[in-house]
Amino acid sequence: MKTFEQLGVAPEIMRAIQELGFEQPMPVQEEVIPLLLAETRDIIALAQTGTGKTAAFGLPIIQKVDPKQRAPQTLILCPTRELCLQISADLNDYAKYVEGVKVLPVYGGSSIESQMRALKRGVQVIVATPGRLIDLLNRKTMSLDLVHTVVLDEADEMLNMGFTESIDDILSRVPKGRSMLLFSATMPNEIAKITRKYMDKPTEIVIGRKNEGALNVKHVYYMVTARDKYLALKRIADYYPNIYAIIFCRTRRETQEIADKLIQDGYDADSIHGDLSQSQRDSVMGKFRSKNLQFLVATDVAARGLDVDDITHIINFGLPDEAESYTHRSGRTGRAGKTGTSISIIHIKEKGKIAQIEKSMNKKFEKRTIPTGDVICEKQLFNLVDKIEKVKVNDEEIERLLPSIFRKLDWLEKEDIIKRIVSLEFNRLLEYYQSAEEIIEPSERSSKRNRDESRGERVSNRDGGGSRQAEKGFTRIFINIGKMDGANPANLMGFINDHVTEKVRIGRIDLLKNFSFFEVPQESAPKVVNTFKGLFVEDRKLIVEVAQESENKSGGRSNNRTERNNFDKKERRQKHKSYQRNY
Ligand code: AMP
Repeated sequence: MKTFEQLGVAPEIMRAIQELGFEQPMPVQEEVIPLLLAETRDIIALAQTGTGKTAAFGLPIIQKVDPKQRAPQTLILCPTRELCLQISADLNDYAKYVEGVKVLPVYGGSSIESQMRALKRGVQVIVATPGRLIDLLNRKTMSLDLVHTVVLDEADEMLNMGFTESIDDILSRVPKGRSMLLFSATMPNEIAKITRKYMDKPTEIVIGRKNEGALNVKHVYYMVTARDKYLALKRIADYYPNIYAIIFCRTRRETQEIADKLIQDGYDADSIHGDLSQSQRDSVMGKFRSKNLQFLVATDVAARGLDVDDITHIINFGLPDEAESYTHRSGRTGRAGKTGTSISIIHIKEKGKIAQIEKSMNKKFEKRTIPTGDVICEKQLFNLVDKIEKVKVNDEEIERLLPSIFRKLDWLEKEDIIKRIVSLEFNRLLEYYQSAEEIIEPSERSSKRNRDESRGERVSNRDGGGSRQAEKGFTRIFINIGKMDGANPANLMGFINDHVTEKVRIGRIDLLKNFSFFEVPQESAPKVVNTFKGLFVEDRKLIVEVAQESENKSGGRSNNRTERNNFDKKERRQKHKSYQRNY
């Protein structure tokens, strides 16, 4: 293994990184630094966050800056404001002892005027999100004529976020003979297209395998029924007393709801998702970074570019649709040589997805059973005792209060005092687990029951309010969610709009006991129906289809009723709660 000096890092930068505690180059740095310090090169590096990639491109970039030129020489594109600020801060750290280097973060959602003023004063390194950079270029406030190095960081995320055209536009404005570096955690086809278009015989560097997660992340999953998913989350949270985790949810609503429930149940949790303003997100992120929060509940989109060290666990509250999203999620832990665990709480129907992800990442998942209340209490208890043993006592401060404390507790034996201290911290947990039912893993049988349930509901489309005519220009749609699920017009509209990617106008809504009808413009109907195909609300299959207006009005009805009555009402009520919990 080479040292930073052997890779060609200059003494003034060495001094800065030594202060940051970098002793040995990480593998991606060993590969990229000498290439970038040499002549013009195009490089594709497949590396996750946490592998040291910022310094891999950052150190040579700072070293190559010509401080006398006060125009942009290096352009770093990244997907989010958070990452933009993080990279800028890192580059400033590396440049601590280099005279005259100016790094400017350029991102949307903040004053463009102050960014324009900073540009006028002269900067050599621009770290930008694509949209804001184009805005500045179009205002002719900056030129890219002197740019000799371009970095695309988290390229796959930028494409996921729809920046393909903006990247095209920006790259077409950069001089031809530049070096270009592309960092990506995964290698989807769109990236290959960009590299073919803009790169010349690129050197490919793979840190770990393609599409493989961080090496030091363990992948485990717990299988539970939908009803137990939140309870399972709580148990996992309780099982790891020093957990510092991101919990990933699929929708904004679910994110908010899980965070609310955790807060209500006494956990240090909060959420970030698209419904929050930038300042709300900043405030939550500030609390999380400073570890005032133990749990950050997030959607995939909101967590993009999120860069926090020391995350001990990623919890997937259900699996994402794409294996690549899973790679990104789990890559948020196990950073900088530390170990981490990616936990998935899944339903039996998601087992196939586990196999897909295992194949794509070439990693094995370990199946675990939800810890029992006894095991959790024991683990927490020993953690508390350990803390009591190790706590730093501020003798000076406490000294003057001790005599009165001793006087007050004089009548208690040592054993009694210990019991009381432990109970003080511990009663809530003990009481909860004393009365909590153990979580039973679902079997294939219960899964079949749900399919039968879906069939029972399906009949309902023909049986009930489907006979009403839709408004002109609208199509009437059946959904197997009704008042028993806690549905009301507002949350049903929210539910539909959360799933359908385009905003859909929703007309008349008719809520019935076990199912409902809603109307959408005729042209939106196929999209709405298709969106819900194969979807589940927790363990329940959604049935969303065009209402069948006059079919089965007489003969079918009695049959349907019998079928519905055969279905155990109490069980249905329980199953239906899953919608209510989510919306
Ligand atoms: P990154 O992949 O750039 O987000 O880096 C992940 C973490 O590793 C950051 O906290 C860096 O400060 C740290 N880091 C980067 N390079 C080194 C190194 N050579 N030695 C120790 N830590 C490093």
